[in-house]
Amino acid sequence: MKKQWIEKRLEDLKVCPHLIDYEKTYKEFQWKEVASQFEGLPSGGLNIAHEAIDRHANGPLAQKTALVWLGEDGQRREFTFEQMKKESARFANVLHSLGLSKGDRVFTLSTRLPELYIAVMGIFKNRSVLCPLFSQFGPEPILQRMVRGDAKALLTTKSLFEKKVRPLLDRLPQLEAVLLIDAQEDESDKVRSLACLMEKSSDVFEIPPTGPEDMSILHFTSGTTGMPKGVVHVHKAIYMHWMSGKYVLDFHPDDIFWCTADPGWVTGTSYGIIAPWLHGITNVVDEAEFDAQRWYRILQNEKVSIWYTAPTAIRRLMRLDFDPLKEYDLSKLRLIQSVGEPLNPEAVVWGMEKLKLPIHDNWWQTETGGIMIANLISQPIFPGSMGRPLPGIEAAVVHKNDDGSVNEITELCKEGELALKPGWPSMFRTYLHDEERYAKCFVGGWYLTGDLAYKDKEGYFWFVGRADDIIKTSGHMVGPFEVESVLMEHPSVAEAGVIGKSDPVAGQVVKAFVSLKEGYEPSEELRRELIGFGRKKLGVAIAPKEIEFEINLPKTRSGKIMRRLLKAREMGLPEGDISTLEA
Ligand code: ATP
Ligand code: MG
Repeated sequence: MKKQWIEKRLEDLKVCPHLIDYEKTYKEFQWKEVASQFEGLPSGGLNIAHEAIDRHANGPLAQKTALVWLGEDGQRREFTFEQMKKESARFANVLHSLGLSKGDRVFTLSTRLPELYIAVMGIFKNRSVLCPLFSQFGPEPILQRMVRGDAKALLTTKSLFEKKVRPLLDRLPQLEAVLLIDAQEDESDKVRSLACLMEKSSDVFEIPPTGPEDMSILHFTSGTTGMPKGVVHVHKAIYMHWMSGKYVLDFHPDDIFWCTADPGWVTGTSYGIIAPWLHGITNVVDEAEFDAQRWYRILQNEKVSIWYTAPTAIRRLMRLDFDPLKEYDLSKLRLIQSVGEPLNPEAVVWGMEKLKLPIHDNWWQTETGGIMIANLISQPIFPGSMGRPLPGIEAAVVHKNDDGSVNEITELCKEGELALKPGWPSMFRTYLHDEERYAKCFVGGWYLTGDLAYKDKEGYFWFVGRADDIIKTSGHMVGPFEVESVLMEHPSVAEAGVIGKSDPVAGQVVKAFVSLKEGYEPSEELRRELIGFGRKKLGVAIAPKEIEFEINLPKTRSGKIMRRLLKAREMGLPEGDISTLEA
């Protein structure tokens, strides 16, 4: 059914999707074909900003819109590739004039303003290292990351600076410059007005030779399982961004793309900035936070054709008793992709019912730098599966032996740790200041992801849970995702987080925290009904024994359910690092 829908939709839109024959493309794929897509720097080497902006600005796409920026209060601005080239050159000159050079860490702490996107490209041009922070972090998480990341400069706004950074200045002695996006004047030699500096800078900047292995981005992970890790990426990661832009996001020259992730997280940089521009396509950025009606309006008014979002946002849309296609014209939308958390099968079905498009799940991590496993537009979807490895990516399910070695599990549908064969271009190059931890991720020729999964006979991978979240109950191993997905099939359930609660008899018992959809109220009767529903669908061994209603589940600021926190609170244990906990 899905296949026919998609085919009809694409025919109407006159789009021929990439990658019709998965097996053939997978077999024949070569990275050197991707390499040939890039121009290389005139001065030698490979630089993200040259490939994403300058080469388009120097050619026929110069006047094409690169960025559509939607301000929180209704403003709308467009920037062409040529403008982006000039503005990012100015920013690179600003950094250079401040004495910042190759390898120096430039942190960003800003809402999604055009200056942020310009700065990102300017940082790459100057061969400095982009270190994105999420603008809603409080002072402590900012301090921790800036100290660990050896911050030399910070781009921010006046209000974020006053509220969060000024009180930290004494504890950041290595910080040389603060650039305030919206300040009219310099405050001191250190705290500067970006506008004044930009005005004095030339809009021409020749990017110095850049090595493909030069460090480009330092990203901190989401902190779902513990203290966030500093993940190091290099310029060559664009091979992966370009390739996944083609095969997963199915970029065509006339596409209008909207990635809802904030650049404080890896999806917001790899796909919210870099990948669409590598393909020379128009990228929509919305400054505002989630709002269902606003989002549907953006999809309609901006004629978005490809939308990359996350399960947490989809579940929020699903909560509403509302028919989007009755109110909005979403006829240009042809592909929805999702990442960040497991996408419950119910969400895929909701997409088909309410948007007349399935939602395509894909899997990757901050460490992998780009999409690794995906449901491609031209391939059948099995709701609940993350899809198949991209061309050039070898994935397997492995078993960890007691002596620390690993074996690949060849038996189909048997759970184990998801592993990747190292060497893909966007693979992280280290954990900052933690080489030991980095080395431990690689065992027996595999990179171990820390996620559990299995593979079916079609070669599709199914997410089971994070290794840390697996529940052992009366001799059974239970993945929280399976239980959560079943609970979500109940009409009252908007979201569920499932943990293993220590139990003297069973080892652990399955406990579910549930938030309800609009129009439902917690009650003893509903609790009993959900327990019965779980038993019927999952069997007594796996079904939750306990259910607790919560208005909202604790989540990371990137929208992931923090099961470790549900568990710590349940057990009365210390909460651990909560720097990324949503306020
Ligand atoms: P930390 O490593 O600090 O605990 P994190 O792992 O949540 O945080 P990210 O790198 O942002 O940080 O997230 C990657 C993780 O998100 C994956 O390892 C996986 O557990 C989960 N994830 C991402 N996409 C999917 C998906 N499509 N299905 C299931 N899980 C996913
Ligand atoms: Mg992780």
